[in-house]
Amino acid sequence: MAQDDVANTGAPSRLIVQGIGLLLSGDINAPTLDADTIECTGGRITGIGRRSDFEALPGDQIVDAKGCALSPGLIDSHVHPVAGDWTPRQNQIGWIDSCLHGGVTTMISAGEVHMPGRPKDVVGLKAFAIASQRMFATFRPSGVKIHGGAPVIEHGMVEEDFKELAAAGVRLLGEVGLGSVKDGRTAREMVAWARKYGIQSTIHTGGPSIPGSGMIDKDVILAADADIIGHINGGHTALPDSQITCLCENCGRALELVHNGNERAALHTVRVATGLGQLDRVILGTDAPAGSGVQPLGILRMIALISGLGGVAPETAFCFATGNTARLRELDCGLIEIGRAADFVLMDKAQHSAGKDLLDSVRLGDLPGVGMTIIDGAVRTLRSRNTPPASRVPEVVK
Ligand SMILES: [Zn+2]
Repeated sequence: MAQDDVANTGAPSRLIVQGIGLLLSGDINAPTLDADTIECTGGRITGIGRRSDFEALPGDQIVDAKGCALSPGLIDSHVHPVAGDWTPRQNQIGWIDSCLHGGVTTMISAGEVHMPGRPKDVVGLKAFAIASQRMFATFRPSGVKIHGGAPVIEHGMVEEDFKELAAAGVRLLGEVGLGSVKDGRTAREMVAWARKYGIQSTIHTGGPSIPGSGMIDKDVILAADADIIGHINGGHTALPDSQITCLCENCGRALELVHNGNERAALHTVRVATGLGQLDRVILGTDAPAGSGVQPLGILRMIALISGLGGVAPETAFCFATGNTARLRELDCGLIEIGRAADFVLMDKAQHSAGKDLLDSVRLGDLPGVGMTIIDGAVRTLRSRNTPPASRVPEVVK
């Protein structure tokens, strides 16, 4: 398992990815791009076009995609990391590296809630959040970008606490509802303080996830007005369909669907969002590690589920895990666009899939085969050890 500091990403100064058979943009308004080559300089996208548009220079690294599809690296909007690549929830080491093999290059913490002995007093929870933010900013398991340091709000916090957290670099709140604050009025006040200082918030939705956590229904969610309606399909237990519909219709916040939730409720949400013409609000997560475990292919499985059973075009479903999340979470990745981080996943249809190409295979509910991941312009993995084998795989030719 390769692990490195942020300072040592091992990226070549320039990378050219050529031979791309299908370019998925991440942009829900134009999910595919007419280009076969991407140029990356210093870990950023600096060119998108045809191979003849770019002159190879000595020292360049060249990747031949061999006709595979290239998508922005997948973003898991909802994880519960603890320390490096270890999770005590299922006592696993290397779970983040396994998710990289599922195409995930960025993860967002919804709270480091599984840390044994996690402090719940105000001084302790602030110190823990700041330490977590620092640790994941400094150390990337296998190169995966973890946005960590997401405190869970507790009664007794005052506005000054949010100001102090923001000044220290904290940019996220852990799931509202996992701590002692479970009423709409207090949640609303604290979420507003967080927003005032640039801290984004997510709220738990649905029944308790494990013994000790609580029920959060639509009234609390509408009152709290957090930026992300975390796992609107439950984590694990979903709200009644009528409440999910109400949330979709009566607030404009992000609709997050997770693997470790209720899949039927996820499909209901997709249908309502489709009817409202608001698929730009849909983002994907796993909610791993959790009682349901770790899903290295969880984001790909959600894309296949939503496309195979939810009637969403596969190229659009990929946007739920890339451009939508990047826009709603204000990330610099997730789109094939000049200036964005050069974070990519290269895929092809799995061997022996009944689909005629990658998108058709996903439409039929099959998982794609991942052939390569790239983060900040550096090749991180070759053929995935976790997905079914891709029909074609990219090659580093120079
Ligand atoms: Zn939750």
